[in-house]
Amino acid sequence: MKDLSFATIEQIKKDLANKEYTAEDVVQFYLDRFSKVDKKVQSAIEVFDKQSILDNFKCHGILEGIPGLIKDNICQNGRITSCGSQILKNFKAPYDATVIERLKQEGALLLGRANLDEFAMGSSTETSAFFKTKNPWNLETVPGGSSGGSAAAVAAGLVPWALGSETGGSVRQPAGLCGIVGLKPTYGAISRYGVVAYASSLDQVGVFTRSVYDNALVFSVLAGHDKKDASSLKLEKKDYTKALTGSIPKGLRVGVVKTAFEAEGLDKEVASLTQDAIATLKEQGAIVEEIELPTLDYAAATYFIISRAEAASNLARFDGVRYGSRAENIETLDDLYVKSRSQGFGKEVQIRMMVGNYVLSAGHAGQYYHNAKKVQRLIRKDFQDAFSRVDVLVMPTQPCPAFKIGAFDDNKLQLDLQDYYTAPVNLSGNCAISLPCGFTQSGMPVGFQLIGPRLSEQMLFNVGHAYQQVTNWHKKHPQL
Ligand code: GLN
Repeated sequence: MKDLSFATIEQIKKDLANKEYTAEDVVQFYLDRFSKVDKKVQSAIEVFDKQSILDNFKCHGILEGIPGLIKDNICQNGRITSCGSQILKNFKAPYDATVIERLKQEGALLLGRANLDEFAMGSSTETSAFFKTKNPWNLETVPGGSSGGSAAAVAAGLVPWALGSETGGSVRQPAGLCGIVGLKPTYGAISRYGVVAYASSLDQVGVFTRSVYDNALVFSVLAGHDKKDASSLKLEKKDYTKALTGSIPKGLRVGVVKTAFEAEGLDKEVASLTQDAIATLKEQGAIVEEIELPTLDYAAATYFIISRAEAASNLARFDGVRYGSRAENIETLDDLYVKSRSQGFGKEVQIRMMVGNYVLSAGHAGQYYHNAKKVQRLIRKDFQDAFSRVDVLVMPTQPCPAFKIGAFDDNKLQLDLQDYYTAPVNLSGNCAISLPCGFTQSGMPVGFQLIGPRLSEQMLFNVGHAYQQVTNWHKKHPQL
């Protein structure tokens, strides 16, 4: 059997069409690789057994015979959906999320459940109740988060694609830290039905792949209207790979967010590698100009308040009665709630719910929540203004490369500032894609992001695909 460790979807599809091997061989190959490599990386909470993977496999469609891993906050019928939390560790999903239904319809092979920060709250996958996922490029560092398991699996050559979710940057940031491609679609482009809610007005499913072409392919399967999700946009289904030409669209105007490079705390190597990417786009014919995003500095704090507020309300359902495991030795109803919730949730989740209830409380909502919603409108307007002048914006994805596990244990603010460059896009509802753009002196990958107007995914794919025709960063792999 051919070594498929770092194969793209495009490659596997070709091989399968040429009958070089079968879908069953593909499953066997990656299951073997999981058992060899994932002891070190720990990307998956569960890898399913071969038979049950094949039982779910439909021999048909765009992703026929292509294996992937699913972030464990997305429901797969009959499988556990733990959200990386003790409180849901025995929760079996009674139905498929719409994205899972679509993947199965197109013949995808779903290999397992990827580790994540508990309830997708974090930037390092360190808050998972089960274990910490490692960055395949350096096992002492984090893969980013919250979709760290999904990103690490793709980077480690365990699967060619994986699903993550984004609320404030949880696909782009780990994609950057792991050296792969990560898409945050326009809010409403992909159904949220069956995705466990963190902050519903911001949550979106996102896609990890090695190449932009592959990303466009998976997005084509997932995107489109779903009547089960009221926030889903009326989007026609189409094949996003069809329009990929390999060159930058003629006259493309790229806006470099000037303020992004002036931010305190931006790592020097990240800044210069992002500048290199901009220079490459320019060489390819893009017209580059500087753009101001005056509200950039306020986005992380705004995200902080809105996400906690919505989390407090969304996570109220895990009370040991409606959802979530129930504590034992209970005497009163209050006792049941208090014990189930304090035993079931980890510290980070508890803090976020407390902050959320505080910013929504009668005496403080005006100062915090309502003000944050006003700033969110200003952030949206900033993006609208920017997109009246340019087609696409460029910013770093992450303020710094992958950091050591535990590095921010005593500095939570620093960890929260991981969202500095990503959260503005969640707040504005725009789409963005993170692409690998080089390595630091110490050999860690770095990503930069292209941000587009709402529903401009096709343009992001075009530009990203063109960039990957003249760069090789996405073809480098860690030694494991
Ligand atoms: N790092 C962010 C947070 O901690 C992003 C989370 C996410 O996008 N799910 O909230």
